[in-house]
Amino acid sequence: MTLTKKNLIFLGAPGAGKGTVSNLLLKSVKLAHISTGDLLRAEVAAKTELGVAAAKIMASGNLVPDEIVAGMVRARLAQDDCKDGFILDGFPRTLAQADLLDAALKDISSQIDAVVYLHVDEEILIQRLTSRLNCRGCDAIYNKVFMPPKVEGVCDKCGSALYQRPDDSVETAKSRLDVFARQTEPLIQYYRDRDLLLTIEQTDAATTVAKMLEKLR
Ligand code: AMP
Repeated sequence: MTLTKKNLIFLGAPGAGKGTVSNLLLKSVKLAHISTGDLLRAEVAAKTELGVAAAKIMASGNLVPDEIVAGMVRARLAQDDCKDGFILDGFPRTLAQADLLDAALKDISSQIDAVVYLHVDEEILIQRLTSRLNCRGCDAIYNKVFMPPKVEGVCDKCGSALYQRPDDSVETAKSRLDVFARQTEPLIQYYRDRDLLLTIEQTDAATTVAKMLEKLR
């Protein structure tokens, strides 16, 4: 399937389902998936200089400096697979990042076509974050309560071990939600003013994807 609106931003609090919805959408639509959280976790795992510096910030639930994240996104957007469309998952997260993104897109004569805002109540976000499980081998995301794997601790798709992200503890989850409210929420109005915002109220991933496909076709 091809979309008319194909350069997308997924905006939403931690735990809103940006990653899960991206993975499901990508089964029917070919887009490059750019998750700044995943890019940063790869740097942390590879113990690069950037990764070592980012690890401490990520563990505290705070945001990695705008220029660093924007630089990673700029480099990723220049890759060939982004030409046919992309999902920016978890970026931008500040107004400054939105400006840096605009500049990067302008340089490659591109633009954002739609910003999908996944709105989920805070109580549910905390429940989801603190019971989330991620796969070590692939991008799969599970949830102990809402979407458990068939075999405890094992990925249905690739058989690798599942783990809880260190920043998904109750304390860090709460501070990440505070960071979202203070630094990222202003982007909702920013993109609404530009007539790009498409809000989807909390529901399951399949319904969210169906609603998105209807609006982005
Ligand atoms: P995520 O996987 O999107 O929940 O991101 C995990 C962590 O990576 C965040 O809590 C931040 O510390 C960092 N991070 C991810 N994306 C960004 C971004 N756009 N700006 C700054 N920090 C980010």
